[in-house]
Amino acid sequence: MRCEVLAVGTELLLGQIVDTNSAWIGEQLALAGIDSYFQTKVGDNHARMVEALRIALGRSDAVIVCGGLGPTQDDITREAIAAVMGVRLELDDEVAARIQAMFESRGRRMPMNNLRQAEVPVGATAIAHPQPGTAPGLICPLGDQVIYAVPGVPHEMKALVEQAVIPDLTRRAGISSTIVSRTLRTWGESESGLAERLAPLVARLDAPGQPTLAYLASGIEGIKIRLTSKGSDELAARASVLEVERQIRVELGSLIFGVDDETMEHAVLDLLRAQGLTLGVAESLTGGMMGSRLCDVPGASDVFRGSIVAYASDIKFDLLAVPPGPVVSAEAAAAMAAGARRVLGADVGVAVTGVAGPAPQDGHRPGVVFVGLDLGAGAVGAGVGGPESFEVHLPGERQQVRQFAVITALSALRSRLLEGGSAH
Ligand code: ATP
Ligand code: MG
Repeated sequence: MRCEVLAVGTELLLGQIVDTNSAWIGEQLALAGIDSYFQTKVGDNHARMVEALRIALGRSDAVIVCGGLGPTQDDITREAIAAVMGVRLELDDEVAARIQAMFESRGRRMPMNNLRQAEVPVGATAIAHPQPGTAPGLICPLGDQVIYAVPGVPHEMKALVEQAVIPDLTRRAGISSTIVSRTLRTWGESESGLAERLAPLVARLDAPGQPTLAYLASGIEGIKIRLTSKGSDELAARASVLEVERQIRVELGSLIFGVDDETMEHAVLDLLRAQGLTLGVAESLTGGMMGSRLCDVPGASDVFRGSIVAYASDIKFDLLAVPPGPVVSAEAAAAMAAGARRVLGADVGVAVTGVAGPAPQDGHRPGVVFVGLDLGAGAVGAGVGGPESFEVHLPGERQQVRQFAVITALSALRSRLLEGGSAH
């Protein structure tokens, strides 16, 4: 079974958006064990889309088309597929009713254009998106070949590819093996550093039937290590992934902060909860991002007390009792953490102050960030406590510096909480 990807959209050709969909779909095909030799991009032009589809069908058994399924006149993927199939479009009443119901439930009138999304080439099947109201995908058989159409919006595309396209493809290909994968999330070591530490393990894994290991550098989400095991026996595949995870944990220890969807904020909140501690935040250059990310975690309220956005210097002085002097400094960061703890009535305070850029401040260049922590006297191991701070140099532009500042501070807090262990 060979499957190729056709990404539709003139903006892809003009470089206005990057075709991340094809990259993601390519990865899923590889994981599913389906051969994929071509990826093509084509603009929103009927004749050229038909041509691209014909070329694809001339060399592959299946084609996944992404984009151009929306309700507007320039969304013509349906028409192009119908032309290649040599059929006309017909209204799928069930899809039409679903779209109509979605508009009604929101108390809005449905523009007639939206019914275009309910048109399906004769002989094709609409695949409903799990989230109501969005364009359905299509499975369009042509003899023993097949065209799949999925929307261009990445999260809609992903849901349909994972839940409908890949299962249909593997069924057609007669692949019965299952794939088990697990992602370990790390922070604090470079990709090459991780690779070096895990090299002996990877060498041992280089045998048929063993799980494979891939590194995915994911910016502020850290570096992910994905373990994948394929086999006809799901339990055995799962067991081998867990065994490799155990060996990786022996090597990397607390560098691993989470698994799969667990974020750093998740990890920090869980640790605080386990130690019966509450958290208060004071943030300057991050302007509320740290509080926002903590609030993204459901159930944060039992741990997270709040965040003070102390952007102007006088707020730091007056509200947080930062001593007079430069506000981008180790002293200011420590005082801000203590201030957050006091003002918010929290057990633990964390703070960031620094230079997001582009201009330097207080004699520091952009990217210089001070993290303050105040774990109080009782929060950590015997005899330790009181405000502390450290300096980091973060790479990138303003937004990146701000985002990295958040995760760096949370990671530092996590490390201190792990050192303190169950002292509380
Ligand atoms: P819509 O209902 O939003 O019109 P659609 O199926 O017609 O969906 P497009 O109009 O092609 O999809 O794309 C919608 C948006 O999805 C684009 O503006 C872009 O942000 C994103 N997108 C589309 N194709 C890709 C791609 N190949 N890679 C990454 N993002 C994409
Ligand atoms: Mg569109």
